[in-house]
Amino acid sequence: QGAGPDDVAAFAREHDARLVDLKFTDLPGTWQHFAVAARELEEDLLTAGAGFDGSSIRGFQSIDESDMLLVPDPSTAVIDPFHEQPTLSLVCDVRDPATGAPYSRDPRHVARKAERHLAASGVADTAFFGPEAEFYVFDHVAYAQQANRAFYEVDSGEGFWNAGAGFSSNGERLTPNLASRNRSQQGYFPAPPLDTLADLRGRMALTLERMGVVVEVHHHEVGGPGQAEIDLRFLPLLQMADAVQLYKYVVRNVARRAGKTATFMPKPIFAENGSGMHTHQSLWRAGETLMFDADGYGLLSELARHYVGGLLAHAPALLAFSAPTTNSYKRLVPGYEAPVSLLYSQRNRSAAVRVPVYFSSPKSKRVEFRSPDPTANPYLAFAAMLMAGLDGIRHRTEPPDPVDANLYELPPERQQSIRQAPTSLDAVLDALEADRDFLLDGDVFTRDLLDAYVAHKRAEIDEVRLRPHPWEFALYYDS
Ligand code: GLU
Ligand code: MG
Ligand code: MG
Repeated sequence: QGAGPDDVAAFAREHDARLVDLKFTDLPGTWQHFAVAARELEEDLLTAGAGFDGSSIRGFQSIDESDMLLVPDPSTAVIDPFHEQPTLSLVCDVRDPATGAPYSRDPRHVARKAERHLAASGVADTAFFGPEAEFYVFDHVAYAQQANRAFYEVDSGEGFWNAGAGFSSNGERLTPNLASRNRSQQGYFPAPPLDTLADLRGRMALTLERMGVVVEVHHHEVGGPGQAEIDLRFLPLLQMADAVQLYKYVVRNVARRAGKTATFMPKPIFAENGSGMHTHQSLWRAGETLMFDADGYGLLSELARHYVGGLLAHAPALLAFSAPTTNSYKRLVPGYEAPVSLLYSQRNRSAAVRVPVYFSSPKSKRVEFRSPDPTANPYLAFAAMLMAGLDGIRHRTEPPDPVDANLYELPPERQQSIRQAPTSLDAVLDALEADRDFLLDGDVFTRDLLDAYVAHKRAEIDEVRLRPHPWEFALYYDS
């Protein structure tokens, strides 16, 4: 990290890189890329950048104003192991070629502005983020979509599942090989041979380490057929958003090289756990944590409690960025360790915010926002979470009283008083439209970006809404 332009050219020569792969993130959160010759590094690639046509990038410009510029961030230089030819990879900022100004819809620019806004606020100088992204690995996925019917099936080697019209509409699980079969909802975490993915996760983890991302743990997750988790050591916001993009890239590409496929969609299989991206976060100033107080609930400082207050108060709007797909709301349902209640707790896994208590050392004090899933654009989602937390600190927002009891055992009147997370993408986009001032603070998010984002997401809702669902065949075919 922190290399300068001269160092990048030297780094490329040292590794005999012939190509430079330039990467950036579109508005929904997917890495885009193109490659140029490594000789460009000896010219002005690092200062002048490289032009491209932004007109077909999701959420970016329309055709009539489509020219854009990518300017590499030298601190992201790394050798990309997924190319046949030696290739240097650089994450880029998107700029306007006419003025050189940062492009307002570049998600990375939003993350940068959020960090600057934090520093300018005087509250803290660093926000650390630690996401736990989960995913499924399948050997085989078949999906068919025709005008009036859809089906899909997945096979992980640890189980087989299908849903669809035509042959099975009830989400059946079949098991091809009992010896390597993980029980439904019991994937966490018997040793091999039940866990058939240990070596694959190990390869993913060590590839990440070689690329400069520190991995803390990898394990099978609860989802019986093929669910996995690899956790990264915490980093400052922007660096972590870059690391999440790299993480997804490595997971997908290592899986693919093994003849498998990885998916971060939050709920690929009915009645198995979904894939979340719980996000641990903490604020620091001058090398000291601001989160810890030995006398606070869960050993949280007042500032940390107000941060939680902000996360919970703005949670419905935040979900538009942190659980941003129609499929996200198939995960956020009771019964699968995914959070549905907008409260905080030291213990409760159905609470949107958990306060980890395993490590009571001040330095590791943090709060865990459990609602996010890995379809989130990490730049926008982390920035939005930080903005909500800062808003809570500024307004001294008190979260509702923590609940440590089993939520289902609370008296009904208490249960009813607990705010629940919205249950659809539509609802959280409405919430974002009604509650967006906290994001506009310090121009971190712009109205233009929010409008473009919401329009893009509403179009996704329509794509899903207009298509007959496999289960509708089970319900209505014989009606
Ligand atoms: N997979 C669960 C989720 O959707 C979380 C399981 C866990 O606690 O790690 O959030
Ligand atoms: Mg997990
Ligand atoms: Mg967690």
